[in-house]
Amino acid sequence: MALLVMKFGGTSVASIKHMENVAARVRQEKQAGNEVLVVVSAMGDETDRLVSLAEEVQDQALDTRRELDVLLSTGEQVSIALVAMVLLKNGIAAKSFTGGQVAIRTDAVPNRSRILEVDADKLRVELAKGVVPVVAGFQGIDEAGTITTLGRGGSDTTAVALAARLDASECRIYTDVEGVFTTDPRIVESARCLEQISFEEMLELASLGSKVLHTRAVELAGKSQVPLRVLSSFNDAPGTLITREEDLTMEAPLISGIAFTKNEAKLTLLGVPDLPGIASTILGPISAANIEVDMIVQNVSADLSTDFTFTLSREDYDEAATILKQVAATMGAREVTGDSSIAKLSIVGVGMRSHAGVASKMFEVLAAESINIQMISTSEIAISVVIDEKYLELAARALHSEFKLAESTA
Ligand code: ASP
Ligand code: MG
Repeated sequence: MALLVMKFGGTSVASIKHMENVAARVRQEKQAGNEVLVVVSAMGDETDRLVSLAEEVQDQALDTRRELDVLLSTGEQVSIALVAMVLLKNGIAAKSFTGGQVAIRTDAVPNRSRILEVDADKLRVELAKGVVPVVAGFQGIDEAGTITTLGRGGSDTTAVALAARLDASECRIYTDVEGVFTTDPRIVESARCLEQISFEEMLELASLGSKVLHTRAVELAGKSQVPLRVLSSFNDAPGTLITREEDLTMEAPLISGIAFTKNEAKLTLLGVPDLPGIASTILGPISAANIEVDMIVQNVSADLSTDFTFTLSREDYDEAATILKQVAATMGAREVTGDSSIAKLSIVGVGMRSHAGVASKMFEVLAAESINIQMISTSEIAISVVIDEKYLELAARALHSEFKLAESTA
């Protein structure tokens, strides 16, 4: 008997009526002879509502992170109870479990804890009896018994962790979009839902800005080799299968997708002395302020001085600029410049491993549209460029068309 983990996101459990749809899908899989485990998110925008309530009482001087976890975890607790009731009403044996009851053990970092281990014994007992366990996503319990949460969007990660632990044949993520698209269909109308994609490509897309899946969920699925399927709970389309490269049944296209993030900024330190230790002198205080840096570029120096540029999230721009001005003064750098209206766009595809010239084709396309490239970085299966934010949509459309992403390779 195959075990399926079915995870339903907030929009898929937004009301009791939506939960009836969940029950219909569970029944269908049970009737097909599968064992089913359900993981759910909080109903609709419940987590956002709870976050704003917490913000109303927030006080900089107080550490309320523990209480925030207790608060946020209630959203999923409501969903598991109601979904289990709806399943029971439909004649399907079901039982709800909070993260702590399972137990899903996490580290003790509040608000963004990581799963350390999953005790699956109780779930196995229920599954063996034909009961559908309905498990709360996004939450766990630390060694001290404190309720923890995994960070926003963390229910995907819960589902994958359970699928991995129980050796499920597939982990399905039911959502309100049809699957993983070649790029954001709100920006490029001809964007197409992919039939399949490798873990590695999905991981790049997720970390480079595609928001369909929690990056940590993809990472964990790849590591534990659990096939992952993203699909809509509102229609019967098969969605996108994310699996091992060697299990893909179609030839990999040159490029599988285009990801982007608009919310970027860059800072440059001009006239930095070209000496050992400079990069850490510049970035040390930035990381001490908990500011995450993304792309980093340092020029070769012609006259014993060089320029150092990095990108970061736009919301950290002002704070980082202030820090950098102090750093510049102490090290005798010439000037700090910056731009907070840039975007990063990346093309991703395992096909570029075996094909030369993908980068130059990308640059040609951008040149033909007179789009200036400000920074470039590459990995084995991705090429990213920083451009002026106002050209982002133009660039995405031009590249989508040049790499023929609207056409299926099947
Ligand atoms: N309910 C949580 C959130 O909205 C977790 C999740 O939906 O995955 O972030
Ligand atoms: Mg949610």
